[in-house]
Amino acid sequence: MGSISTLEAFSIGIGPSSSHTVGPMRAARRFIVELKEREFLEDVASLKVELYGSLAMTGMGHATDIAILLGLEGESPDTVDPDSVAHRINAIKNTKQLSLFGRWVIPFDSDLDLLFLRGKKLPFHSNAIRMKAFNKKGKKIFVQVYYSVGGGFVVDHAEAMLKPSAKIEKGVPFPYKTAKELIEHCKSEKKAIWEIVLENEKAHHSEEYLRAGIFQIWNTMVQSVERGIRTEGILPGGLNVPRRAPMLYKALVNSESTIENDPTLVMDWVSLYAIAVNEENASGSRVVTAPTNGSAGVIPAVLLYAQKFTPNFTNESIFRFFLTTTALLILYKENASISAAEMGCQGEIGVSSSMAAAGLTAILGGTNEQIENAAEIAMEHHLGLTCDPIAGLVQIPCIERNTMGAIKAINAARLALRGDGNHTVSLDAVICAMKETGKNMKTMYKETSEGGLALQVSFAATAC
Ligand code: SF4
Repeated sequence: MGSISTLEAFSIGIGPSSSHTVGPMRAARRFIVELKEREFLEDVASLKVELYGSLAMTGMGHATDIAILLGLEGESPDTVDPDSVAHRINAIKNTKQLSLFGRWVIPFDSDLDLLFLRGKKLPFHSNAIRMKAFNKKGKKIFVQVYYSVGGGFVVDHAEAMLKPSAKIEKGVPFPYKTAKELIEHCKSEKKAIWEIVLENEKAHHSEEYLRAGIFQIWNTMVQSVERGIRTEGILPGGLNVPRRAPMLYKALVNSESTIENDPTLVMDWVSLYAIAVNEENASGSRVVTAPTNGSAGVIPAVLLYAQKFTPNFTNESIFRFFLTTTALLILYKENASISAAEMGCQGEIGVSSSMAAAGLTAILGGTNEQIENAAEIAMEHHLGLTCDPIAGLVQIPCIERNTMGAIKAINAARLALRGDGNHTVSLDAVICAMKETGKNMKTMYKETSEGGLALQVSFAATAC
């Protein structure tokens, strides 16, 4: 409890989806690593990969197939060169060959060997992948099931079946499962939330290592914003969505209005940052999972807002912001989920907005109670938000939705800072409400692209 590191919570990867791209790439690589560890790799003559649940429904639009192929060739989301992906995938498809770990070549026909089993689900989680390896005689030599449980996190079937009490927890000095327990640690230790998270982090690595990792994450986020602002064109996937960030940036820098005579311009800058990151994500470029790829723009947009538009911002603000947001991620993962296939978009944009609200409140000098309040407000007003991406692409409504999540986070922080920390709905209560809402949400609204906006736009003539 309370043991996820900031360096795990925010992982450097590629777009467009943490659960459908980053997770499957990790799962595929892990399968090959497990084959190698069992000394089966050289016996492998063929592979079959089956995708279930939401991965089968929207995996094509989320580049799940591409991620699996790259993972089987030994690539990792944090190191793969996004510019090489198209060329690599074309080579695999044209030669109908895969090079496991880049050296063990086997035949692989994506159309026959990588199956999207639409309408089929495995019991533990909607995002399931079954991988099978066969020898020359066609005998199955290894089978593994992996679940991509959101935010790029992957568990195999045995790990998924472990009861919570049996799961091996990394020991930390201040374990917590609820916001109440976290705040109690803060009170008894007279520490801020970020300091409690830091003490837990120090159980596993040095503060210097952690700081270096956090600043690498932050630099990658800033680079995503900068690339998004520079890159023009149409997003891939067939929806013909034009990139808006370059146009928005030019309009802002050339505007005759100033923040002094039009303070709402700040909102446009926040939207620009969020859109820039998510256009990069939609094009399969390098982004930081925060806590998912679909919601990767909210946290950078809010932290850039703090850097550019609030006083007294320092490098220490960045450090404290990330540690505070990690505490929130832990609460959502412990008590609900950050997977849209389980929670709808409240588990992605809702969680990122709540994390950002908490981080912003912390660096603007809020008390622990105000931080808890800000996180609660941000989630309270995302409850029930469905996941209905058009054509299964992480573009509409996803890109704009990041702007909404960021603005709501800033508003939640401001509301909380105007109060004294006392509030009626606790963060623990709102997380429970989110989990229940997610459980009761129809499957069509949970990353299947079979309901909501996706249905209205695809079948506009026959819907309402
Ligand atoms: S609608 Fe929300 S949860 Fe669904 S893919 Fe888009 S950003 Fe992710």
